[in-house]
Amino acid sequence: MIELSQLTKRYGSTMAVDHVSLTVQPGEIVGLLGPNGAGKTTLLKMLTGYLPPTEGTARVANLEILDNSLEVRRRIGYLPETNPLYEDLAVYESLEWTARLRGMNPASHPPAIRHVIEVCGLAGVVGKDVAHLSKGYRQRLGLAQAILHDPEILILDEPTSGLDPNQQQEVRQLIQTLKQKKTVLLSTHILPEAQSSCDRVLIIHHGKIVADGTPQALGQQAARGSRLLVELKAPAPAAGQALAQLSGVDRVAVQKAYDSCVVFILESAGGADVREAVFELAVQRRWPILGMTQETISLEEVFRQLTMGMPS
Ligand code: ADP
Repeated sequence: MIELSQLTKRYGSTMAVDHVSLTVQPGEIVGLLGPNGAGKTTLLKMLTGYLPPTEGTARVANLEILDNSLEVRRRIGYLPETNPLYEDLAVYESLEWTARLRGMNPASHPPAIRHVIEVCGLAGVVGKDVAHLSKGYRQRLGLAQAILHDPEILILDEPTSGLDPNQQQEVRQLIQTLKQKKTVLLSTHILPEAQSSCDRVLIIHHGKIVADGTPQALGQQAARGSRLLVELKAPAPAAGQALAQLSGVDRVAVQKAYDSCVVFILESAGGADVREAVFELAVQRRWPILGMTQETISLEEVFRQLTMGMPS
């Protein structure tokens, strides 16, 4: 379990992480989603004990990170965004080296290395020099290093950045496999990644968590302020006024008017479904309905609303 309370990091006058409180339960796969500069890396570095917070506390597996940094690092597997690898070593040797650095019991090295080679699909490249690996394999090796000591928590900073779409898919599948046994917190600025890989998404912006929920719930949260497009054969001013008076409709705008038809946009902040009321009004006034579409709002739209419309 990961527990953050009012976690804050300032770099001089830059507030990189601003009083973040959150809990990640065991077995959850949580995506930290935000544009570049939002504070993702800083947050993850504090969590892994690489960076002391300016304020607040972070606990991992009930251990205060600052007071137990060695024990915490034992329980965490961390894949930094730019993962340093031992270029001069072959894949197997570099895993051996990682095991030694981590202070793992020498007897456990061969089985642990065999295990991560299998899980991360490295069997075909064990003898190859790290310097000659493709980006996809380098990332798999980074993951293998992160999980070598079988940590209960995995922290992955932009795990698919710099990979081509096929490699991204492979790494996402690998994360799904790992999640069966571990708590995973990954950062990304790529929406589909958060949507497809994570049980829960935290949207971070200017160092603050601005949304927290399942990808579906976040979509619904935004859809609560839903929009209905209504295409009517009707006089625009009269129809606009009548639609604006319907219960649940907060705002009416004309998207386009052509011949004797109008496309209205009806906004409803409370999320009311006003389609039936629109239908009844149109029948009563004898305004033929040419089309009616309830807009479903994607996570992409939620993200845009939350991060673009906000003052810096
Ligand atoms: P992200 O990972 O979401 O791209 P970062 O955590 O890297 O965001 O950065 C958050 C903010 O902190 C940015 O404004 C960035 O410029 C600033 N920042 C990050 N690292 C440092 C540093 N070492 N010194 C000063 N400012 C930094």
